[in-house]
Amino acid sequence: MVVVMEERATESQIEQVVARLVEMGMDVHRSTGVTRTVLGAVGQGQPDAGLIEMLDGVHEVLRISEPYKLASRTFKPDDTTVTIGEVRIGGDEVIVMAGPCSAENESQVRSAAAAVRRAGAKIFRGGAFKPRSSPYSFQGLGEEGLRLLRDASNAENMKLVSEVMDISQIEVIDKYCDIFQVGARNMQNFTLLRELGHVRKPVLLKRGISATIEEWLLSAEYVLSGGNTEVILCERGIRTFETATRNTLDLSAIPFVKKLSHLPIVVDPSHATGRRDKVAPMARAAVAAGADGLLIEVHCDPDHALSDGAQSMFPSQFDRLMAELRIIAPAIGRSICLEPVARRGWGS
Ligand code: PEP
Ligand code: MN
Repeated sequence: MVVVMEERATESQIEQVVARLVEMGMDVHRSTGVTRTVLGAVGQGQPDAGLIEMLDGVHEVLRISEPYKLASRTFKPDDTTVTIGEVRIGGDEVIVMAGPCSAENESQVRSAAAAVRRAGAKIFRGGAFKPRSSPYSFQGLGEEGLRLLRDASNAENMKLVSEVMDISQIEVIDKYCDIFQVGARNMQNFTLLRELGHVRKPVLLKRGISATIEEWLLSAEYVLSGGNTEVILCERGIRTFETATRNTLDLSAIPFVKKLSHLPIVVDPSHATGRRDKVAPMARAAVAAGADGLLIEVHCDPDHALSDGAQSMFPSQFDRLMAELRIIAPAIGRSICLEPVARRGWGS
């Protein structure tokens, strides 16, 4: 249930409504919009809407028909923006996150960070704990990888996103990273999602390999209901009968999610296509379709990468893509890091 307060509702009226809902067995999440306060009441209680409507300061009471509540636009009509220092995801600017699939060694991490930063990426990506389909594949460098990724991000003045696979890794990842990435294979790891509801850092939640949009938003709801309001959704392709690409990129998820939810959504064209020559066209299409950002794999020597080399772009391809995005973004009313960083001297 969503309780929309009157524009001039006082703090004490809001508190009385919250107290009444809590008394009825509900958890109450407050969202302060531009003009009104909205209270989202979730839980197993059955509050009587009529009784709430009678309380002072209440404008209207709405039932949320979707199974997810806090993730829905009914609860929060305004777009959510996730802010990490000077980087804002979900605002006018399209934010590009890029870097290698995995941290492999210091020079590989450093060279990738420098390359993507120069081209205009603001967030560095890289895995230290890798969810590989085979137990015999490279599993990541663990904490040593996180240290390399953090040092390179600091050197290039970038934020850092890295994957968390298990609750036991939260503490160490929190020490090094700015954003927790939940991978496709863990989208329905509800114990992990619940725990990430208690961290005070944003969560980038990838869509599960065969998850519907509703299941994906319900997974976001696990994090939101734990009190962490900073969820960024990431469409990374879903499994279909098509085998030409690694997955099938569902670009229609962007406008769908934007209608159903207030959460920002970014697109990962690397895991979606599995081939570096297909990444740029899908990245361009994702921005044109309204994505708030991109997550792209880049490696300076992709043919020798320890994971996902075939889909990792060469820095020169990434440079070209960024230049193209600088034309596309303004055409749909968005901005993007305007010039290659070396020329602009960003962060110096
Ligand atoms: C990754 O980003 O390296 C990754 C493993 O992605 P996904 O969970 O989408 O497969
Ligand atoms: Mn990868």
